[in-house]
Amino acid sequence: MPARDPHERSVDFEEVELGYSREQALVEATRCLQCPEPLCIQGCPVHNDIPGFIRALVDQDFQRGIAVLRRTTNFPAICGRVCDFARQCEGACVLAQEGGDAIAIGALERFLGTWEQASGRRQQPAEQKAPATGRRVAVVGSGPSGLACAADLALRGHQVTVFESLPIIGGALAWGIPTFRLPPPVLAAEIEFLEAVGVCFRVNTTIGTDLTIDNLLAQGYGAVFIGAGTIVPTRLRIPGEELNGVYTATEFLTRTKLSRSGQAPGEGAPTIGERLAVIGAGNTAMDVAQTAVRLGSIVQRDGLKEFTSMDVAETALRLGFREVTVVYRRSESEMPARREEVGSAREEGVRFMFLTTPVRFIGDEQARLVAMECQEMGLGAPDASGRRRPVPKPGTEFTLPVDTVVLALGYQADKTLSETTGGLAADRWGLITVDPETGRTGRTGVWAGGDIVTGADTVVRAMGAGKRAARDIDRFLMKV
Ligand SMILES: Cc1cc2nc3c(=O)[nH]c(=O)nc-3n(C[C@H](O)[C@H](O)[C@H](O)COP(=O)(O)OP(=O)(O)OC[C@H]3O[C@@H](n4cnc5c(N)ncnc54)[C@H](O)[C@@H]3O)c2cc1C
Ligand code: SF4
Repeated sequence: MPARDPHERSVDFEEVELGYSREQALVEATRCLQCPEPLCIQGCPVHNDIPGFIRALVDQDFQRGIAVLRRTTNFPAICGRVCDFARQCEGACVLAQEGGDAIAIGALERFLGTWEQASGRRQQPAEQKAPATGRRVAVVGSGPSGLACAADLALRGHQVTVFESLPIIGGALAWGIPTFRLPPPVLAAEIEFLEAVGVCFRVNTTIGTDLTIDNLLAQGYGAVFIGAGTIVPTRLRIPGEELNGVYTATEFLTRTKLSRSGQAPGEGAPTIGERLAVIGAGNTAMDVAQTAVRLGSIVQRDGLKEFTSMDVAETALRLGFREVTVVYRRSESEMPARREEVGSAREEGVRFMFLTTPVRFIGDEQARLVAMECQEMGLGAPDASGRRRPVPKPGTEFTLPVDTVVLALGYQADKTLSETTGGLAADRWGLITVDPETGRTGRTGVWAGGDIVTGADTVVRAMGAGKRAARDIDRFLMKV
């Protein structure tokens, strides 16, 4: 996929990848072998008809291509940007299996999704929604699972209300994934469509505290879908985590996004220091690292406008992150982040420190972070995840000067919903137990899907769960 120059892009928040031109998309599409038993479809978590939409691209019938995609996905323009293609459809493509270059399925999906949004020609326009059924559905959470469920139910004629704790709609698509990977207008176009088909959004409303699921059912909602995600950041539980300068990834990314977008003016951007360490190495860690590089650069550039040269130098020293390092306790080959994200972060100047873990954060007398004590790790036998277990090496402790640390260690479920809703079975981590075919929970009239069921996962799987639940909710409502 063509991308902007690393030096140019690392100083702004504009999209990194450029996407295919029409000509590039057509050339790539003609490479597809149109396999009679396409392995790529098996690799796609929602089983998009990949050769089908590529065939339409070759025929230059973009409307048909998008129609093929929309049979199984609500968000081609989003998934075409954020899916882990190398591990999914492209990894399964027969050309990759034979040692060649996979068809760039993600780039082609993105091309069609972008074309659809730019042309305004949705495959199923809002006017084609089914006649009103008079049934009401409540959706808890506006991430990809909730949005997909809401869209599919609204198109079937049900009246859907989405309840969202945050002031912004989109779940991790809105507060988490940075704008340089998912530009806000791409998500906004999907939300506008939901509004056009009659979905109502109630933001700043937390189900489980402001209202319970029992309240919703008593208010006449015939069904409730829980797509609450896993929003509680995992902590390291080592000394010094409470120091000023230690952020969770959620706090760092959300404050950056909200303060830059003007959607929540009270939210300040994170304080800019010199040396930032990101602990962890999943996609969240990459997003934090790349956001930090941009924050530092932006502050220096804005400063240039307002201060004399000496002031700029001093302000830059204080406000610009000079070094951004990802600290990971395993080796590079065990890193869970997408390869493209790691490559992109490296190109932009992010450093990596492998086989290292922090053991304590060190503060000054004002409780500001000044350093972290780290320990080297070795690799032992594989653990339950199949990756080699990191093993501490005693006596290898060393101190790394840092003024900002962002913990990107993953997310856990908030147990409030399972604890306030009778009949909802959850495991010890608060993940809700459902029938995997339908998303039905143990409580009649309540469905769940996405990360709150699987644990932190992916956009495409969350979306697929929302669609599966919508089909079952529709059947349930139309029988009642
Ligand atoms: C920084 C970051 C980068 C990521 N990058 C990628 C990527 O590149 N590709 C990819 O496929 N996946 C990525 N993911 C993962 C992906 O975003 C998630 O798997 C997906 O968003 C899960 O969708 P969901 O609908 O289950 O929940 P979420 O997207 O988490 O949305 C849940 C929503 O529910 C709301 N909520 C929670 N509890 C309540 C309540 N009680 N009442 C009302 N509202 C509530 C939350 O505020 C939130 O908005 C990333 C995640 C993060 C955090
Ligand atoms: S496996 Fe690859 S070559 Fe075959 S149909 Fe799918 S994308 Fe085309």
